[in-house]
Amino acid sequence: MTPDKYDITDTLTCESCAGQGYDWSDKWEYDPCTECQGTGRLQYKHNLLKEAFFVANQDGRARLHIDHRHLQALISHFNDLLSELTQIEQEAQQIDEFFTPEARATLTAAVTDMLQRQDKG
Ligand SMILES: [Zn+2]
Repeated sequence: MTPDKYDITDTLTCESCAGQGYDWSDKWEYDPCTECQGTGRLQYKHNLLKEAFFVANQDGRARLHIDHRHLQALISHFNDLLSELTQIEQEAQQIDEFFTPEARATLTAAVTDMLQRQDKG
């Protein structure tokens, strides 16, 4: 999976040891927590956009905490889509301006002819 700009890493308190970094096997002895290797913290990698879409598709049943970063990811994503659409529209307009009506008619006839031959053959 390729990383994208919505991938982030959060640092969370290790639930296994409550951020202490140690497993208290008995009153007098302890070992470094196997979950966080004694740091008391865990790195949580996730994708804000995927989470936002996931929650949106779960009809309110998702138990995922959504915050302002998810909304910013959605807004950023839709702005990207919008600018891509604008670019496509501009390119389409350039193509449109490039072709004269005669060239367009010739091209349309050629494509129609080609499609008809494909249907027959
Ligand atoms: Zn831990």
